[in-house]
Amino acid sequence: METFTSDPQDTGRPLIQQASPVTDEQLQDAIRTVLKAIGEDPTREGLVDTPDRIVRMWRELFRGYDPTQKPKITTFENDAHNTEMVFDTGDFYSMCEHHCMPFFGQYYFAYIPQDDGRILGISKIARVVGYCSARLQLQERLAHDIIEMLSDALDNQVQGFAIVLKGMHTCKTMRGVKNKGNMCVSYFTGVFRTNPSLREEFYHMIDMQ
Ligand code: ZN
Repeated sequence: METFTSDPQDTGRPLIQQASPVTDEQLQDAIRTVLKAIGEDPTREGLVDTPDRIVRMWRELFRGYDPTQKPKITTFENDAHNTEMVFDTGDFYSMCEHHCMPFFGQYYFAYIPQDDGRILGISKIARVVGYCSARLQLQERLAHDIIEMLSDALDNQVQGFAIVLKGMHTCKTMRGVKNKGNMCVSYFTGVFRTNPSLREEFYHMIDMQ
C-alpha cells in the first residue's frame, strides 16, 4: 500500500511556477538588473541567455516550494516486526537563506520502526532530503523538515528518528572567513532523544561510513 502525504509546512510558501505571481519575463528582467549592478553588460553574447538559464535552473533548485513535486513516500506494513535501527546516508545540496549561496554535504539518517507500525521505503529518504533541500534553507530547519515529512508519512507511528547533517557553506568558504564554513547539526526524536546508547550506536554507524 502506498501512502501519499501532505506537508503542512508547504502551505503558504510562494512558488516560482504555477501559483507564482512573478512571470518568467519579470524574473529575467530582475536578473538582468543584478547583472548590471555587479558591473556586467547583460546584452553581451555570453550573458544574453543567462537570465533564462538561471530561471530554468531555479525551477529545479527550488522545486521544494512546489507541492506538486513532493515525492510520494511509499510505506509498508512492518510484517517482520522489525524494531532494529534502519540507517541511510547520502548527499544533500541546498541554498542558504542568508546569502542564497549553496551549502552541501552528507546526511546521516536513522529510524526505529514500531513493532506494529509501518516502515519506509528506504529509497524514498534521499528523495525527501532532495525535496526539502530545494528551498532557501537553514541547515537546522532542513533537518527538521526532513524528519517532519518522514514522520508524517508514517503517521508518527515510529519509535524515533535521528538525523545528522554535515554541511559546507560556500557563503563562508568563498569569502575567506576563518571558520572554514563546516557545520554539523543533529536532530533526534523519540527513543533517540531519551536513550543515549541509541544515539551512540547511531554515531558509531556514522563513523563507520
Ligand atoms: Zn549563508
